[in-house]
Amino acid sequence: MGFFEGLFFWSCSYGITSRKIEAMNNAPPSTHIRQLAAELAEPKPMRRGSLSERTVKCSKPGCACAEDSSARHGPYFSLTRAVAGKTHSRFLTPEQAAIARQQIAAGHEFRNKLEAYWQGCEAWADRELEGTPTASAREAEKGGFKRASKTKSSKRSKRS
Ligand SMILES: [Zn+2]
Repeated sequence: MGFFEGLFFWSCSYGITSRKIEAMNNAPPSTHIRQLAAELAEPKPMRRGSLSERTVKCSKPGCACAEDSSARHGPYFSLTRAVAGKTHSRFLTPEQAAIARQQIAAGHEFRNKLEAYWQGCEAWADRELEGTPTASAREAEKGGFKRASKTKSSKRSKRS
């Protein structure tokens, strides 16, 4: 078991323990969520950004590229990524571009899984809130706040 994987399992089991104590009617996350966590914990080469492919016209006099778009030079591949508002780009060989395409696809997959994981955990978090017996007590507390603010205003009126 890798370090990050272990971290995931640790956080999962920690969640189970505290949930059992706090709220009995809070349903555990689906096996789908656990599956996502296991997949996210598996490192792989991946990247953010995008790959662009372009053909270019040169400035050589008499070169066919000037007239015929199919005679343009390239394709040239470049990898671009915005980091802190700046666009970073680098050129890639066709072989590198093929690999980068897979790395970007892996990055998209990771992001989608991460989003699904968030949604699953947030749904769980909602169930945890709804499952607490303090929901009605919270309403009473709201009334308490109202009374507190009345006290404040009466204090203010005393001062003025
Ligand atoms: Zn040319």
